[in-house]
Amino acid sequence: MLKVEDIHVYYGAIHAIKGISLEVPQGKIVTLIGANGAGKTTTLNTICGLTKPKSGKIFFEGKDITGVDTQNIVRLGLTQVPEGRRIFANMPVYENLELGAFLNKDKKQVAQDMERVYARFPRLLERKHQLAGSLSGGEQQMLAMGRALMSRPKLLLLDEPSMGLSPILVKEIFSIIKELNEQGTTILLVEQNAKMALSIADKGYVVETGRIVMAGDAQELLESPEVKKAYLGG
Ligand code: ATP
Repeated sequence: MLKVEDIHVYYGAIHAIKGISLEVPQGKIVTLIGANGAGKTTTLNTICGLTKPKSGKIFFEGKDITGVDTQNIVRLGLTQVPEGRRIFANMPVYENLELGAFLNKDKKQVAQDMERVYARFPRLLERKHQLAGSLSGGEQQMLAMGRALMSRPKLLLLDEPSMGLSPILVKEIFSIIKELNEQGTTILLVEQNAKMALSIADKGYVVETGRIVMAGDAQELLESPEVKKAYLGG
C-alpha cells in the first residue's frame, strides 16, 4: 500500500534521513522504533508531504506521491496523527472533529462520520462541547485520532500516540489502534514504547541516526537480543 524508496531528507546542512526504504502492506500494522532524534518523525512528515525529500520516492497505492502537498495526500486516504496531538485547544471537541473533515463537502456524511467517532470514543461524546484544551492527555490523543478518522483514511500514520500517557491509558490507546486496524485501517506507527508497539504490530523497522538498521516480523524483533538490549530495557 505504501512504499518508501531510499529517501534522503536534509534540514539545512543536517542530513537527517540517510536513505530510508520501507513498506507498509495493506491491512497491516507496521511500526518504526528508535531513539530520540533517530528520524522517525521526519520520515512520517516526509511521507505525508510536510517535509520534502531531497531524493527518493514515495508511492501510495501505486501512485507516486513524492512532493505532493499534504492536502492532496489526505484526499488520497493517507492521514497523520501528529506527535503532541496538535489539537485546537480553544475550540470545542466537536469543532476539532469537524476540522478533520474539511475536505468532505457532504454534510450528511460528515455527520455520520462524527457519530461513528463518538461511538468509538464515548468520552469524546460526553465532552463534545468542552474546550479541547481542557481534556486529559489520553482524551486529547483520542481526539487527535478521532479527528484523523474524520478524513476517512485508508492509511493512518501515528506519531508517538503513547507520549505522556499513564500505563493504563497507553494500553487503552494501543487496543484502540488494534481495533481500528481490525476494522480495515492500515497503520504506520512511530513509537518510543518499542515493547507495546512491537506487541501489536505485524512488522517493524528499527531506525538509528537516519537509517534503518534492522527490519523484520514484529515478533522476531521483540525476541532479538539487539533490540532487547537497545530498546526493551535488556
Ligand atoms: P523524536 O522521537 O525525538 O521526535 P525522531 O526519531 O522522531 O525523534 P526526528 O524528529 O525526525 O527524530 O529528528 C531527526 C533529526 O533531524 C534530529 O537530529 C533532529 O534534531 C533533526 N531535526 C528535526 N527537525 C528539524 C528541523 N526542523 N530543523 C533542523 N533539524 C531538525
